[in-house]
Amino acid sequence: MAGEAEQQLRAYVEYLRDLGVYDLYRRGEPVVEGDLASITAVTETVAAAPAKEINTAAIPPSRPQPAAAPREQVAVPPPPKREFSEPEIPKLVSFDNLAPLPEVRLAAAQKPSALEAIREDIGDCTRCPLAYAGRRKIVFADGDPNARLMFVGEGPGADEDTQGLPFVGKAGQLLNNMISAMGLKREQVYIANIVKCRPPGNRVPEPVEANTCSQFLLRQIDVVQPEIIVALGSTAATYLLGVKQSLSGLRGRWHGCRGAKLVVTYHPAFLLRDPRQKGEAWKDLQMVMKELGLKAPVKA
Ligand code: URA
Repeated sequence: MAGEAEQQLRAYVEYLRDLGVYDLYRRGEPVVEGDLASITAVTETVAAAPAKEINTAAIPPSRPQPAAAPREQVAVPPPPKREFSEPEIPKLVSFDNLAPLPEVRLAAAQKPSALEAIREDIGDCTRCPLAYAGRRKIVFADGDPNARLMFVGEGPGADEDTQGLPFVGKAGQLLNNMISAMGLKREQVYIANIVKCRPPGNRVPEPVEANTCSQFLLRQIDVVQPEIIVALGSTAATYLLGVKQSLSGLRGRWHGCRGAKLVVTYHPAFLLRDPRQKGEAWKDLQMVMKELGLKAPVKA
């Protein structure tokens, strides 16, 4: 400890001794080892010193105190209400209302580079809090830039965050099975998420996170221009359609999104938790298969 600080501390401990305080407890900021040693040394030497003689003759006799008057009950006014500005709740805007629909269709050969350009624009993104919430990899998308069918999930989980690819964990295995059951391969569809960075603890993305990331998914949809989009779960449905409704209210009918037909179904992670709903999800996928003219593969 610096000499001056030590002197100050010594004086302060002596002052406390004069007041009759002998026991000191450490609280608050941790002290580095060297400092602790010198503090201990100071307190020990001061505690070992003889207490100063007190000249009691110099202390005037205490005067008799007047009896305390009965206390009047005073109404304490409530503290003034502090004015807080209400945090603005961002409005839900459907992807159709976020930007005008594209006027041109890109040629098949142009789509891979157009998607790469979007990925480059994202860069090492720090536009929303998820960038500082332990994200490892930005999960852009996976699959065919010319896919007729696109799946949109919620956001990467731990496996996706590690590998940088969407739906590669347990929910991803179930999604792969769902795609195979439709008579397609994973490489033939396009898969992306509402947010591209893992929300901590796999929580639902906050509106500010989803809204910040939406611009990129919107551009991806406009490049791929799938015929059909499957919204996996309520987060995908909420942001793509701009409505907050129960899944049961949104399932079983066609919606629209960026010129594609959109159907809502259960998220594979939900189906893992409640496999009884797989039959319902299969009904949703059959709507898609009918529209795309797909036949379920014959089981061997
Ligand atoms: N859940 C999602 O919504 N997306 C993924 O990529 C993985 C799990």
